[in-house]
Amino acid sequence: MEKKEILSKFSSDPERYYKVRLFEEEGFNRKSCGICKRFFWTLDENRINCPDHSDDTYSFIGNPPTNKRFDYTQAWKEVESFFKKNGHTSVNRYPVVCRWRDDLYFTIASIVDFQRVMGSKVVFEFPANPLVVPQTCLRFKDLENVGVTGRHFSSFCMIGQHSIPNENGYWKDECVNLDFNLLTQQFGIGKKEITFVEDVWEGGGSFGSSLEYFVRGLELGNAVFTEFQGDLSNYKTLDQRIIDMGAGLERFAWITMGTPTAYDCCFGPITKKLIQDSGIDADSTILTPYFTEIAKNLELYDDLAMVRKNTIKSTGLSEEQIEKIITPLEGIYLIIDHIRTLIFAISDGALPSNVGGGYNLRIMLRRIISTMNRLKLEFDLNEIIDIQIDYLKNTYSELEKTREDVKEIISIETRRYDSSKQRMQKIVSKLDKEPNVEDLIRLYESNGVTPEYLKEMKVISEIPSTFYAKLSDLHQSKKQKEQTSLPLEGIPDTELLFYGDDPREFHAKVLKTFENFIVLDKTAFYARGGGQEPDHGKIGECEIIDITKYGNIIVHEIKGKMPKNGDTVSCIVDAKRRDGITKNHTSTHIINTSARSVLGSWVWQHSAFKEEDHARLDITHHSALTDNDVTKIEQTANLIIEKSIPVKIENFDRGTAEQKYGFRIYQGGVVPVKSVRIVSIGDLDIEACGGTHVANTSDIEAIKITKTKRIQDGVVRIEFVSGDNAKEFVRKKQQDSENKEIEEKLKEEEKEKRIEKRQLAKERIPIIAKSLSECKDGISIIENITIELRETGKANFCYSTSNDYDDIFHIGLGEVLCKADPKLVYCGLFEDREKIRVIVFAGDDIPKESGAGEIVKSISQILGGAGGGNPKFAQGGGINKSKKEDAIKNAKTMIFE
Ligand SMILES: [Zn+2]
Ligand SMILES: [Zn+2]
Repeated sequence: MEKKEILSKFSSDPERYYKVRLFEEEGFNRKSCGICKRFFWTLDENRINCPDHSDDTYSFIGNPPTNKRFDYTQAWKEVESFFKKNGHTSVNRYPVVCRWRDDLYFTIASIVDFQRVMGSKVVFEFPANPLVVPQTCLRFKDLENVGVTGRHFSSFCMIGQHSIPNENGYWKDECVNLDFNLLTQQFGIGKKEITFVEDVWEGGGSFGSSLEYFVRGLELGNAVFTEFQGDLSNYKTLDQRIIDMGAGLERFAWITMGTPTAYDCCFGPITKKLIQDSGIDADSTILTPYFTEIAKNLELYDDLAMVRKNTIKSTGLSEEQIEKIITPLEGIYLIIDHIRTLIFAISDGALPSNVGGGYNLRIMLRRIISTMNRLKLEFDLNEIIDIQIDYLKNTYSELEKTREDVKEIISIETRRYDSSKQRMQKIVSKLDKEPNVEDLIRLYESNGVTPEYLKEMKVISEIPSTFYAKLSDLHQSKKQKEQTSLPLEGIPDTELLFYGDDPREFHAKVLKTFENFIVLDKTAFYARGGGQEPDHGKIGECEIIDITKYGNIIVHEIKGKMPKNGDTVSCIVDAKRRDGITKNHTSTHIINTSARSVLGSWVWQHSAFKEEDHARLDITHHSALTDNDVTKIEQTANLIIEKSIPVKIENFDRGTAEQKYGFRIYQGGVVPVKSVRIVSIGDLDIEACGGTHVANTSDIEAIKITKTKRIQDGVVRIEFVSGDNAKEFVRKKQQDSENKEIEEKLKEEEKEKRIEKRQLAKERIPIIAKSLSECKDGISIIENITIELRETGKANFCYSTSNDYDDIFHIGLGEVLCKADPKLVYCGLFEDREKIRVIVFAGDDIPKESGAGEIVKSISQILGGAGGGNPKFAQGGGINKSKKEDAIKNAKTMIFE
């Protein structure tokens, strides 16, 4: 179904689809644009074309149509007070990170706040009716326009005016009336200035008419009346009709201020400050015509470079004016816009990374840094953040709480980018041609090289206009998991005993069996879900292998003889396993909240896994955890256990739970049911969770983190054990460390002993050597050392087999003696624990055949071992302690014969 077809059908019956009471009462004329033929409603009899094709387009720049001047903060206060006066509830903005939708990373429109996906259907849940909300929306498709066009933002405030027509809410007539009065009464815009253009909206199987309202070519808002479902030939009215009016707050401010760009009146004092700091001569006589032309050309050309080129030509600005004024201004607008978006996103728990929605945030920060480098602007990002939050908190007071967190994340990311520059430089230097869009995407996706960096390095002159749209598509929505279908038609929902008395033994009726699957009328076996592993146990004689939930039906996969349909079976839950899993599940909640309090507000559960004897929690965090982080998280977690906090489980209507506790409840992801089960540990941790939990934190007894690891950019895994497993882990670790301590102690003693011996040897060797040198012919024994001197022989022999001496001593003495007597062979034998060792020195005159190496080889053999060395020095040994004398005898033979 084409939008064009719907529009032509609706516009062919304006009485039915577009004519509201206001048009009748005020006497609006319906006209068709002389250029594009679109239909519009106006009080200005001279107006002949639609707002896109009128001469007064963007003439409010430099000449606003109101006497009142409202900046961004004040504009919201005006809008809010008007709608409150008219019976609306003003709702706080929802997070920009869209935790309640699986298919969106970020909140892209105010209506998204109230959409919940149930199966394949989108339902609306309004906390009040009618309501108005200042919803910050993030959109990354037009990034290259930001800063350049004067009106594109990466995040903006959508004024959401929403109503369900019933006893409280209203429909078209009232809606258009309110919007008209808002513009004329509250903002003081002349009635003739306002044009309503006929349009339609369709999406998700429903559609309806819409009226866009413009003032001087600027679209201020679009009132969508979601009314029908079906297709054009056959459609019916929805049970729940919805008014979805979205208006850009930035534009409301801009139209009253008439500044050259919307940026000049929407960012607060920071814009003026940065312009002044960088010394730009922001002369409005240049800027007003320039940005008016930009706005007009934007309607004429698709390509931004063309828009800019033609604007420069028609305004006659010099190259110097472009370079000194326009280009740096564009940079400043971009920097401020991007930081504002990062403030919202980081405050709401998103982290820059290379995956998912985090990707968009990283590229924004890199654009900020590249822009500063390219334009040689030296701004203090922390100061910009401070000034922006000071301004934004007039509308969004919650941003104060995360001020320091935002600064921390941005400074970490900035450092990371700086350190990756060298690598990027290398990659860029290898480029042999100017990269096209596909190359740019590949360069960014696989190497982290941003097009801004390439622009900064002058590799490319412009970023292709399709780059961000293409990239954004790649990172837009998350993939949906698909579940295989099973033959379960007609089977009633399973009664879930684990949410009730949770018995360990029960009887149930078999409703259906197929293959090795079985469905019971009720079950106490917990099915795999929310990262919690399934229960084990017995159904009749069968062992349970796996349990899965399909919608509200629980399917058990079993092994063994299958019972028959209609049988009553007795079932036994493996209680020990369940107990372990349950402790681990409550522990993930405790570790999650502990990690958040230790690390920062950006910590969210990324995923979790709970088995009987171990579990893990993956959290969002920018860096790997330090030992200190781990210790602190563990201490915080164990403190929560020590405090014996009751774990409370309550069921709430989803909308009520969201309003009461906020979106922090969605740690485990989206809850696709109307009633949510809220598990709270005091007010420390409150989560929507379908898992099994202990009654009191003290039941867990202990939590021990066993390992942590950075598993992907922005995600850290924490592995842990709890209960008996934690105690066992601690005991083992303690034992290990005790054993290690004993070992260390022994080693230390050994070391000391050796030092002592070395010292002793050093003192004793000269004395003994002196005594030995004084010996005359024949055999002498001094201090257990035997010396045999043969005056006429070819060699002398000195040896010891005493265990009083060790290697240090023998090496010392042998060397001294052999130096003094070149005919001497020295041989030291000593026991060393289980072994016997031998050390031999030989003087210079001893021939190689009877030198140290040969003697050691021969002796070691006798001792039942091996050894070797050179003719002067050798060592070896064996295990036969009883062969000492044989060894000496053998040595003597070698020396003297
Ligand atoms: Zn037109
Ligand atoms: Zn949970």
